Amino acid sequence: MVRKLYDEDAYRTEFDAEVIDTAAAGDGAVWVTLSQTCFFPEEGGQSPDRGTINGLAVVDVQISGDTIRHKVMLPAGGDSGAAGEGGSTTGGDGLVEGESVHGRIDWEFRFRNMQMHTGEHIFSGLVHSRYGYHNVGFHLSERTATMDYDGKLTEAQLQELEDEANRAIVRNLAVHAWYPAADVLAGLSYRSKKEIDGAVRLVEIADVDLCACCAPHVRSTGEVGCFKLIGWENYKGGVRVSYRCGLRAMEDYGERLSLLTKLSQLLSVKTEDLAETVAKREAERRELAYALVAKDRALALTEIASMTAADGRPRLADGRIDGAGILFLQKADASLLRYVTDEMKKVYSGVVCVLLPVGEDVWRYQIEQDNGDVSMWLQMLRERFAAKGGGPKNSVQGSVTAPKRELALALAKLLA
Ligand SMILES: [Zn+2]
Repeated sequence: MVRKLYDEDAYRTEFDAEVIDTAAAGDGAVWVTLSQTCFFPEEGGQSPDRGTINGLAVVDVQISGDTIRHKVMLPAGGDSGAAGEGGSTTGGDGLVEGESVHGRIDWEFRFRNMQMHTGEHIFSGLVHSRYGYHNVGFHLSERTATMDYDGKLTEAQLQELEDEANRAIVRNLAVHAWYPAADVLAGLSYRSKKEIDGAVRLVEIADVDLCACCAPHVRSTGEVGCFKLIGWENYKGGVRVSYRCGLRAMEDYGERLSLLTKLSQLLSVKTEDLAETVAKREAERRELAYALVAKDRALALTEIASMTAADGRPRLADGRIDGAGILFLQKADASLLRYVTDEMKKVYSGVVCVLLPVGEDVWRYQIEQDNGDVSMWLQMLRERFAAKGGGPKNSVQGSVTAPKRELALALAKLLA
């Protein structure tokens, strides 16, 4: 049975231990089981400690029953015999069954997790005592830090809870972890996520919380530093809350501040005027975009008008030219394609084909004839130019790469 040194002293960073077992882990790593350890394993939603054993990086720590296994990266090229019988290593790294090794945890990483985890207990204790909701999920890794509750909380309630959590932090309340005797435990009312087999470890934050927990915590709430809500969303009938504490909160604060500074430099306004400025510029941008589309449309209509004026073909009773029309547009917004195709159908009774440049000799095309069949147009574009696209037989669209002159010639042949 492994001795959990992190249980006894969350502030201990180094230890010696005996290697109980080793096993190949693949990818140049080996699983090492030790007699005792300061490495907190992945447990209770918290990612495992990092650090070194005999100077080699520990990249994962897993617990099952009474065994804690450390995934240790072997030196490059130092082939371990761990895969062999009995799993003894031969790489000169000392990871040999029966040998003594020296372990050291990454304290910076651990302490941040301790700040975050004690912060979670403070907040969850407050949620429970104020609203009776339970913490039903906890995820703490470098990427995320979230707490799930089985009841909904409003923004105002969450902000009040944040205030209270910070007040509990500045009061610097004692945090105490211990294994109570069974009869004592039976008389206690404490928060717990699940039924626990074996001894129950309790973590008490004076006046705020009493909760079953296996993880390392800070000694007093003052060390949590601060509690900051980052965001919240409805989740499984309750709420999922993202948060930061202590040094991680400071990092987050720093990142947000530098982002604001960068934005204010980009827009040449004070940070406090950012929101107003961005809203104003966005409105202007939208107005300009509309104006540009209107201009493009007007230009296209002019092109269609001059094309039809020069067309000597007979007109139908409804004024349309009896035949097909092909139009190459100038560079314009892709949304113009649909608009121009509809306008073309008003002046040509046959197939209309509109092409819009989207790159060097790259065109988006739309070919249509209401109640007609334009499949031979698509077939020609595919065969001659390896065009992409498709659609129903009366309306096809896609893209084609070819110089305008070649395309125009090939399309004109279809009219003959
Ligand atoms: Zn906990």
